[in-house]
Amino acid sequence: MDRMTQAAAIHDEIRALAAERDAVIIAHNYQRPEVQDVADFVGDSLGLARQAAATDASVIVFAGVHFMAETAKILSPDKTVLMPEPRAGCPMADMLTGEQLAAWREGHPGVPVVTYVNSSAEVKALSDICCTSANAVEVVRSLRADRILFGPDKNLAAWVGSQLPGVEVIAWDGWCPTHEDVTVEQVREAAARHPSAEIVAHPECRPEVCAMATAVLSTSQMLRWAESSPAEEFIVVTEEGLLHGLAKAAPGKRFVNLTPRMLCPNMKVTTIEKVRDSLAGMRTAIEVDAEVARRALGAVERMVAVG
Ligand code: SF4
Repeated sequence: MDRMTQAAAIHDEIRALAAERDAVIIAHNYQRPEVQDVADFVGDSLGLARQAAATDASVIVFAGVHFMAETAKILSPDKTVLMPEPRAGCPMADMLTGEQLAAWREGHPGVPVVTYVNSSAEVKALSDICCTSANAVEVVRSLRADRILFGPDKNLAAWVGSQLPGVEVIAWDGWCPTHEDVTVEQVREAAARHPSAEIVAHPECRPEVCAMATAVLSTSQMLRWAESSPAEEFIVVTEEGLLHGLAKAAPGKRFVNLTPRMLCPNMKVTTIEKVRDSLAGMRTAIEVDAEVARRALGAVERMVAVG
């Protein structure tokens, strides 16, 4: 059996298992193409959080990284949340611990804390509100504060600050290794090779890279942008998994991967075989301490209410 026939057989097996287990399969936009294709819903952190909150299924299989599955469990404590590969973490989320956030907060009394969903449940529990890259500007604006603490991503913090000049955004020194690596030179070279292409960049990129983009967008916003823009070609400055969704969203348009190095190894450890084995064996269930989950839920719900 060749790889494609094998993948198609596993796909059918997964769909049958999902029906049997009353499970919904949720996959992030950066997952492998065959994992995205077997999912009921593919999206960015905000879309996935909403799906997790809204589903009637009793089991959620989360193809993504650990903080995403944790967020699903926080939103749906009575459901079983399974991670096909529980070792899939996020280095950025690990750059801010609960202990560090507590000390940072204490040093800035009265200043609201906004945390990117790319953070642990413990960090969310110590935050006033969460945000994603899709709604970070709106979330901060909703606070009507002139100063905020923002973590863990310094680049998203800088993007928010650039959009809200009246707000002092005090950033934690965290970053995404995949997006931080992008250089101005790489973007300049790609733009020279594709002069009519629009440049779409994720706000986890450095400010000088964001400044070169036609638009700075979350992954779901990039999908909508590609569909509605009159441009025929796009230089995509985010993790390469999104190229699969872009080709589906805007067939016939051309998408240029900035560099093959724009790959998050953590997003790629989940395979279609692991999704099947996860459903077959009902593993690995993600648990969050009840008190931590209760406090984190407040920050996540406040974010979902903003939009
Ligand atoms: S792409 Fe970056 S922020 Fe997203 S999971 Fe990977 S390391 Fe974390």
